[in-house]
Amino acid sequence: MLRLAIQKSGRLSEDSLQLLRDAGIYLSSSPSRLLRTQATNFPLELIFVRDDDIPEYVEGGVVDIGIVGENVLLEARKDVETVERLGFGKCRLSLAMPKNTPYSGPESLQNLRIATSYVRILDNFLREQNIQADIHEISGSVEISPSLGLADAIFDIVSTGSTLLANGLREVATVLESEALLVAHPVMAAEKRDILDRLLFRIHANRNAKNHRYILMNVPNDQLDHIAALIPGMKSPTVLPLQQPGWSSLHSVIPETVFWDVLEQLKAAGAEGILVVPIERMIL
Ligand code: ATP
Ligand code: ZN
Repeated sequence: MLRLAIQKSGRLSEDSLQLLRDAGIYLSSSPSRLLRTQATNFPLELIFVRDDDIPEYVEGGVVDIGIVGENVLLEARKDVETVERLGFGKCRLSLAMPKNTPYSGPESLQNLRIATSYVRILDNFLREQNIQADIHEISGSVEISPSLGLADAIFDIVSTGSTLLANGLREVATVLESEALLVAHPVMAAEKRDILDRLLFRIHANRNAKNHRYILMNVPNDQLDHIAALIPGMKSPTVLPLQQPGWSSLHSVIPETVFWDVLEQLKAAGAEGILVVPIERMIL
């Protein structure tokens, strides 16, 4: 049995549960009011906690794995293994200053008072930049501290920037681009490692599927080689004869990032009846 900690209620909760559902893992009861539950069809136990506690639980072995924001993990400085970047819960940690304060680079922060709840990440950044500044630790509502005269700058999570704007601030530098991470206790029994590997296998199959499209089209035989060469496929495309003489059906899998470009080239090269189909799961 593998024990996983996820955020009880917050920005990472729904995506964490969705990750499990996509991996075909179902829970014995709805997690809304429970603090722990088990999967019905996978050797996984879930516990629901505050995100700030997850690094410590994973380091201490209270749980084997956890899903936590990189910002929280870096601030907690716990000894855990990052096994996967999950691609959700994206945000950035940035420095912001009052709209009219000039900023020409980190040196503009020299000797200023900076309010933040991310003391360690900020301290690390300032050290790297060789800047001396006075860090004020505040646990919330960091954005109002400059207008209260408590700080000259802030260091905080920014998503759209509208909160900054409403407080007369502007973002001057991004220090960390964060996303949710799957983290693990550094030492794990072989049996648990196996369960984790099975979970990762499913996560990868879903990610690959999401990042690719299945593409099929009709192609005149004299254009087959030319068209096949345009497709950055998995291995080599499948070619099946059509009943109509001189034509074939060509199938392949292409990365989502290039598929519009490839589509235009295929059309120009004489492909017809092009279908692009989502992929449910993909195992490489
Ligand atoms: P908890 O009650 O569990 O302590 P919290 O209030 O500390 O919750 P949330 O606001 O739910 O935490 O955010 C959880 C994580 O979601 C953050 O640590 C961060 O990694 C990520 N995140 C993504 N987008 C944002 C955003 N716009 N603002 C804040 N956090 C975000
Ligand atoms: Zn928290």
